[in-house]
Amino acid sequence: MELRRRGITDQRVLSAIERVPRELFVPDMFSDQAFDDTALPIDCGQTISQPFVVAYMTQMLDVGDRMKVLEVGTGSGYQTAILAALSRRTYTIERYPDLMREAERRFNDLKITNITTRIGDGLKGWPEQEPFDRIIVTAAAEEWPVELCNQMKIGGRMILPIGKTGADQKLVRVDRNQEGFDVTDLIPVRFVPLVEGVAREP
Ligand code: SAH
Repeated sequence: MELRRRGITDQRVLSAIERVPRELFVPDMFSDQAFDDTALPIDCGQTISQPFVVAYMTQMLDVGDRMKVLEVGTGSGYQTAILAALSRRTYTIERYPDLMREAERRFNDLKITNITTRIGDGLKGWPEQEPFDRIIVTAAAEEWPVELCNQMKIGGRMILPIGKTGADQKLVRVDRNQEGFDVTDLIPVRFVPLVEGVAREP
């Protein structure tokens, strides 16, 4: 109801959010806050995004059920599970092996079978699987991720936060057409930074 009031009107997005139990994606000590509209800490100093931002990004991405989607920044896997409910297959990349192990355990528990995972640097995209209909980045880039742009289909779309951490970050939509790329500014946001390279385990 709250999401609807704030402009999330796409019924497919709303029902995907209804079906994915967010409480399974947040640490136990925060489970009583799983349905508050706030970002919450997860392992490795990262965060699970705020429900409104997940809903908004998903609505803007406009995912169809035949589409191949790439997500950069698996984190808890919550956004991934929502995308999986809407797409044919979702490919997701995370730089922390620990976070990926946890996310994979959740996908198994929920019997979600159309997610393919990779531990790696999402800035490089997924060259063996390109081109993608849709790309979503859930950590903020300071510069244009050129390789991700090149891995979008013509007619494809990418949603990503751009900007320095803590400073003004904005969500942008990139649409690829025959001539090139159209960029549209969306809303101000706050994301953890997109960091190059795979994280080393402690
Ligand atoms: N979609 C996630 C949000 C997690 S926060 C969720 O709903 O839980 C963003 C994630 O991006 C973090 O887990 C961080 O480790 C990851 N990340 C940052 N830079 C990355 C990179 N270059 N490649 C892959 N993952 C990256």
